[in-house]
Amino acid sequence: MKIDRATLDEIVAHAVRDAPNECCGVVLGRDGSAARARALENLAASPFRFDIDGRELIEYAFAEGDEDAEQLIAIYHSHTRSAPYPSQTDINFAAGWPGVEWLIIGVSKAGDAEPEARSYLIEGGVIREVELEVS
Ligand SMILES: [Zn+2]
Repeated sequence: MKIDRATLDEIVAHAVRDAPNECCGVVLGRDGSAARARALENLAASPFRFDIDGRELIEYAFAEGDEDAEQLIAIYHSHTRSAPYPSQTDINFAAGWPGVEWLIIGVSKAGDAEPEARSYLIEGGVIREVELEVS
């Protein structure tokens, strides 16, 4: 996806703020371009996983059915204890959201390394890293 530096910084700041728990949220925009991020509550409040209110996600994904409406471009969350690479739990979750990018922010628990952002498309259980075009 294309994303501007300020929006990506906002997502990374959310990940750092919620560490050691995982954070989560959504990226909204149009035609593969991020317009804004929206932080969501990690209902699991856990360093090992995240859980989103499915109804809330569905609202973002199917907002009004209006062609001009923003689309759900990505679901983001953080990894605080492992590399920013989709876990089996992520793969299972992503199966329900085809075409939606899976943005993961890797935050080191010691805070000794720069957070790392990576995005993936996960389709049919196959993980493919996609470019984060930061402008
Ligand atoms: Zn994960």
